Amino acid sequence: MAKSYVHETRRHKVAPKKQRIGPIVELLAVEHADAKIALRFANPLELLVSVMLSEQTTDVNVNRVTEKLFRKYRRPEDYLAVPVEELERDIYQTGFFRQKAKSLRGTMKLIVEEFDGQVPERFEDLLRLPGVARKTANVVSAERGEAQGIVVDTHVRRVSQRLALTKQEDPVKIERDLVRLVPKPDWARFPHLLIWHGRRICDARRPRCEDCPLAAGLCPSSRL
Ligand code: SF4
Repeated sequence: MAKSYVHETRRHKVAPKKQRIGPIVELLAVEHADAKIALRFANPLELLVSVMLSEQTTDVNVNRVTEKLFRKYRRPEDYLAVPVEELERDIYQTGFFRQKAKSLRGTMKLIVEEFDGQVPERFEDLLRLPGVARKTANVVSAERGEAQGIVVDTHVRRVSQRLALTKQEDPVKIERDLVRLVPKPDWARFPHLLIWHGRRICDARRPRCEDCPLAAGLCPSSRL
């Protein structure tokens, strides 16, 4: 079970979350004006593959692998044209390579057979692809400008718990809380803002509250 940060919200009294969410998004957007997805991709297929490979590893690691991978595998058929062992070798450095190779091949097969070789646009269709769970489908949809939900990763979970935007522990329930709270036009950028805030300022072990624009009045977990 991942560590919970819900108890940290007892430090300060703050306004209800509905009143705080607007200023939180605005201040984070100023603080992290450059916040965007860290994965490198040039088209929907590369986006999908990058997100699938990013499970349980860092974006930097994925980018290192895909730089070569995308030169070799350009179409869904290319992933099916090589022996599975070769694909496993090509993605080995992202970890869990056997499972990931299996998911990639299953996904490419379905894309070729049912979606005319194109990454499907509908959220429900994305979820049908083998190895594509809600988080992956959310990232892909958001990057294509059609966010269907809010991506919840470890940073989004921690920062939204510390900000008392949710008391939930489970990512699906956290997402449910966030989509009720965050205005739809912000669904795509909101997770990036929290991810970058989590990486740069709201560190898991030592949050730098002294450098945080939310510390004064917007965060009940502030250590100031
Ligand atoms: S860094 Fe900011 S968001 Fe994180 S606990 Fe401190 S004040 Fe709250």
